[in-house]
Amino acid sequence: MFDTVLIANRGEIALRVLRACKALGLRTVAVFSEADRDLPHVALADTALCIGPAPAARSYLDQAAILFAARAAGAGAIHPGYGFLSENAAFAGRVEAAGLVFIGPRPDSIRLMGDKIAAKRAMREAGVPCVPGRDEALSGELEEAQRAAAEIGYPVMLKAAGGGGGRGMRVVAAVGEMADALAVTREEARRAFGNGTVYVEKFLGGPRHVEIQVIADTHGNAFWLGSRDCSLQRRHQKVVEEAPAPGLDAALVAAVGERCAEACRRIGYRGVGTFEFLVEDGAFHFIEMNTRLQVEHPVTEMTAGLDLVQLQLRVAMGERLALSQAGIACRGHAIECRINAEDPASFAPSPGTITTWSVPGGPGIRIDTHASAGYRMPASYDSLLGKLVVHGESRADALARLRAALEEMRVGGIMTNLDLHRRIARDPGFIAGGVDIHHLERLMAPR
Ligand code: ADP
Repeated sequence: MFDTVLIANRGEIALRVLRACKALGLRTVAVFSEADRDLPHVALADTALCIGPAPAARSYLDQAAILFAARAAGAGAIHPGYGFLSENAAFAGRVEAAGLVFIGPRPDSIRLMGDKIAAKRAMREAGVPCVPGRDEALSGELEEAQRAAAEIGYPVMLKAAGGGGGRGMRVVAAVGEMADALAVTREEARRAFGNGTVYVEKFLGGPRHVEIQVIADTHGNAFWLGSRDCSLQRRHQKVVEEAPAPGLDAALVAAVGERCAEACRRIGYRGVGTFEFLVEDGAFHFIEMNTRLQVEHPVTEMTAGLDLVQLQLRVAMGERLALSQAGIACRGHAIECRINAEDPASFAPSPGTITTWSVPGGPGIRIDTHASAGYRMPASYDSLLGKLVVHGESRADALARLRAALEEMRVGGIMTNLDLHRRIARDPGFIAGGVDIHHLERLMAPR
């Protein structure tokens, strides 16, 4: 099969993938930009190749450079991590055309789920409950959009079919706002995603963001590995995640999880994936599927007792998953805080050199990071410095460990969102569990 994996990513996830490869006895190839020579996975990899200057478009997104590096270093497979090329169907196709293994789903699965309209349609057909709406592209004609919105009932949300990263979405509260909203969303979508296709669905006023982790092998087996709650968001970007999603009816979650696994079997899905839902008044509504490893995968690993990246690699090697749905249990509770290098007032990225880096430890504490004292955080990439993940026997236990861990953690030289996390960990709403996706912005709003 393959014995050498090229890691087409950087930062904490590149290190995470490298560790899984090493544990399976696989050789590793790191590719890095000129700004990333000092990353730990570059030093730890068997081979490391510089593929271009700092801007991602000229390094981590340069498909030809990555394929050239794979050939030069004798890699048999490429792990894309998350972000960058991880959900790029054309890249996955080029990898496979070059005779290499893409560690992810087949290109057609990525293409299907990359189009949010097609994805919703496919999921509705598989019996997965979706956000109300027509699952059709709007032509751009105002009357048609107004008709579609009237069928659903205001408020509605206009969304870019090719959107991602929390962008390309707009709430339309009433019919009079549709003309402007339609024009602006289409134009934004065209500029940001190269695809001006938009659709409309019901805007849910106060839902929770709940997702289901799945994994499928190439022998027709698919399993769901539990739920996560990612409702604590700022500008549609996740800040804190936990597993399992608290306070939901276990039988309902299991029924939805089983629909997700069944949908994977139907489309011949391969590898790990995440079905994202908005949950309001106890009902699940599918919004999209992410066809890759998620930033928040560790909370599932800690509650399911599985190494998702190793499983990803095993599936890519053609192995049959040695799991049974009945044997997959959720033990205890896990919470993840995304530690960002950012200005706590403006949320602008805060690059620079880390002078102090002191991290917590002890039972149930896990830190996934590429940072350390002396590390110079480049300005060219996103601001994620690492993830603090805690596990406890119960949610209360996990929260107590989280508070202690956040007290202990010290980062100096750059600004971080650690104080925000300390505040969240003491917030009565979060402690009670089950807050909606607007909770964090309410908490941060000036009083
Ligand atoms: P992206 O691909 O950009 O992450 P998603 O479709 O996953 O976009 O939506 C991201 C976030 O936007 C959700 O977690 C939720 O906070 C909000 N959102 C998306 N669709 C709706 C909707 N129909 N009603 C209310 N909020 C929504």
